[in-house]
Amino acid sequence: MIIVMHPDAGEAEVAAVEAKIRSHGLDVHISRGTERTLIGAIGDERKLDPEMFDPLPGVERSLHILKPYKLVAREWHKASTTIEVGGTRIGGSDVQVIAGPCSVETVPQMEAAAAGVAAGGARLMRGGAFKPRTSPYAFQGKGVEGLTMLKNAASRHGLPIVTELMDVRMLDTFLAHDVDVIQIGTRNMQNFDLLKEVGRVNVPVILKRGMSATIGEWLMAAEYIAAGGNHQIMLCERGIRTFETAYRNVLDVTAVAVLKKETHLPVIVDPSHAGGKAWMVPALSCAAVAAGADALLIEVHPCPAEAWCDADQALSIPEFANLMQRLGALATAMGRSLASPLTGATNEPALAV
Ligand code: PEP
Ligand code: MN
Repeated sequence: MIIVMHPDAGEAEVAAVEAKIRSHGLDVHISRGTERTLIGAIGDERKLDPEMFDPLPGVERSLHILKPYKLVAREWHKASTTIEVGGTRIGGSDVQVIAGPCSVETVPQMEAAAAGVAAGGARLMRGGAFKPRTSPYAFQGKGVEGLTMLKNAASRHGLPIVTELMDVRMLDTFLAHDVDVIQIGTRNMQNFDLLKEVGRVNVPVILKRGMSATIGEWLMAAEYIAAGGNHQIMLCERGIRTFETAYRNVLDVTAVAVLKKETHLPVIVDPSHAGGKAWMVPALSCAAVAAGADALLIEVHPCPAEAWCDADQALSIPEFANLMQRLGALATAMGRSLASPLTGATNEPALAV
């Protein structure tokens, strides 16, 4: 950290800053220029914060030199991290697709969705059992019963599951239901207690971007999880709030490029919650793969018009299959490949369940 002193700061003020730095166990390097004195703190500057120095007499401003995140930063870990979930690798040369309905509704709905997404080439299945809804009167999810329905349907098609954890008190239940990937939703990106708890378990986490979070805040949220010991973190861009009202959120494709530079963690894009309309999903998916996303998280429903949640943005199963064809060609053009459907995945009618 560097502390820039006012031109008229005196020796006593410089000494007070020096003492404060030393009291935190760091060394000090003072550089006296013709205009100003600069005080450098030498050592682990993450122990220091501009708030500690800015109010001191004689201080003009203070600034960090290093990024505030470390475990998730590419600066400290050059190689890209890949995360294996049930034999599928996310962050490697293959582009992976995670698909399924917004929410778990019924056993036949889940069976049809699982069969459809597996046949289309998804390698993981999504589905919310606990739903963060704007209205307390809207469908809140099937709860624990939904976890069982998701796990059963996905397992029949060899797919690991991704589902959202909203309440830290449900973490043990998630583990007991063999949730393969815990999703932290946009509304909980800065629920630090939740982040600390998922940091303690050995289960991969998809951390969605807060709808108004900067990339720095998002990476600090990921750092919370990593700091607890869980390094299996994937970041998911799902669109941010802007002044635009023509669509649900603005897909921040730029974030994909920035994240690839800033962090070694895999980057996922959710085109469904970004556009909020099914017809936008193919274009946004293509943009994400072209920008370098490692995976897509796509809402697919066997009968979108009847979905209990996010009906407008769900792809039907044939629409999903079409999109997967296009993405295959695009991934190849980008020097990657789209993972092929698991062997045994067919578009057979749903099993009797
Ligand atoms: C979801 O994935 O169903 C969801 C609620 O997403 P987000 O947290 O991005 O709104
Ligand atoms: Mn949704």
